[in-house]
Amino acid sequence: MTSSFSNLSLAPTLARAVAEMGYESMTPIQEQAIPVVLQGRDVMGAAQTGTGKTAAFSLPLLQRMLKHENASTSPARHPVRALVLLPTRELADQVAQSIKDYAKYTQLRSAVVFGGMDMKPQTLQLKAGVEILVATPGRLLDHIEAKNAVLNQVEYVVLDEADRMLDIGFLPDLQRILSYLPKERITLLFSATFSSEIKRLASSYLQDPVTIEVAQSNAAASTVEQHFYSVGADDKRHALHQVLRQRKLKQAFVFVNSKLGCARLARSLEHEGLKTTALHGDKSQDERLKALDAFKTGEVDLLVCTDVAARGLDIKDVPAVFNFDVPFNAEDYVHRIGRTGRAGASGLAVSFVAPSDARLVSDIEKLLKRKIELEALEFDEDQPDIRRQGRINDGRRMYAQAQEAPAADRPGRFAAAHSASGERRSESSRAKPASRDPFFDQPYQASAGAAATPDSEAAAKVSSGRGISANIKPKRRVAALFKSE
Ligand code: AMP
Repeated sequence: MTSSFSNLSLAPTLARAVAEMGYESMTPIQEQAIPVVLQGRDVMGAAQTGTGKTAAFSLPLLQRMLKHENASTSPARHPVRALVLLPTRELADQVAQSIKDYAKYTQLRSAVVFGGMDMKPQTLQLKAGVEILVATPGRLLDHIEAKNAVLNQVEYVVLDEADRMLDIGFLPDLQRILSYLPKERITLLFSATFSSEIKRLASSYLQDPVTIEVAQSNAAASTVEQHFYSVGADDKRHALHQVLRQRKLKQAFVFVNSKLGCARLARSLEHEGLKTTALHGDKSQDERLKALDAFKTGEVDLLVCTDVAARGLDIKDVPAVFNFDVPFNAEDYVHRIGRTGRAGASGLAVSFVAPSDARLVSDIEKLLKRKIELEALEFDEDQPDIRRQGRINDGRRMYAQAQEAPAADRPGRFAAAHSASGERRSESSRAKPASRDPFFDQPYQASAGAAATPDSEAAAKVSSGRGISANIKPKRRVAALFKSE
């Protein structure tokens, strides 16, 4: 942290909004990017997640757009001048909210459009005129095709989380969108990592960009304490309970690699007395926003999520992130642990490493450029053994044990797992089974709402077409698209 926002000579309306946000000094990305954007240069920014990059691009863009500010009710006086593209709905929503906060004392209008929501209210907003449009690529194309969004007066484009947009197959959509925009414009590209594909995207669409790297790219936030525990696949839930208890953690994100694993783990943890919600790409938009809200308000303690759903979410004070599964892509490790230790706060990142994860861990070592020491996790002997209560991915075992108990016993039994009270422990150790939960008997099914979500992470499109996990990068496909340009 260094210089103050007052050195920037921001317009009073913007300075007031910043002051209200409680920002005292600029973060490094803000200090470097804001003056460059104010000068009208293209930027290629590598910034760790949680570094304050939204303000780093929004504030100078708003400042430059103030000359267009007007109170007219005519839509023609409010054409889209800045377009901000993001890979996921949650991220689009979050960035749009920040922009609204920064612009609240100006007359500049902003809107956000993403899939999984009715197009009509979005259309009304677009037709009324907005200067700043935040969007996910798929839904934006829908609006362009429906002639709801006219982009011929766009002066500024931000490609945020660009690496992720490529990872989940948005390159063709991005290329189409960019083809609708005036050539004379300022383009800002932000990416957590600068892969060769990102460099190619930048060389195709940016003009003489200033490169800004606030921290070594691919580095994890230095404020995050990282541990890798060697844990058998069957012991992971037990290990999670152990660390939560040992570190007295109140809230955490728990990352898993698949939607199926996500739904099942959330279910099991809930049964074990932890207030848990799940966030994955098959949840409807409404369910996802509710899950996030429940976590933000402290109504739930654990947010079990997949990468696609959790990318870039800014939730303050997440004290810990668990990698219940080591991610398939090393870069996702950096993103996941970026959920904690945001904006200078300290955080904890715990990864459970099964013997079969050796290759994935060595990929993370290469990315972080440091050796990872696997640690052994000491289990408290006086605590109930979650392992005896069934494997997470084998709901039937849990269910089989569960059949005999009255449902009312369940919360007490599992809450006891986190209690030091001997009374509780003895209650728990009687191994009363919980009531039957048909969930674990059913094959996994996406929720109904998800079917109608055009933007439900292009990953879904990619994965269904290619028969691979949504979390695996479609590298060849991206490279092929660049070649065919
Ligand atoms: P971002 O990287 O844009 O998602 O921002 C991460 C978090 O940092 C958000 O909660 C911002 O409100 C917060 N933030 C951004 N800039 C500053 C600043 N200069 N000082 C303190 N917090 C900030």
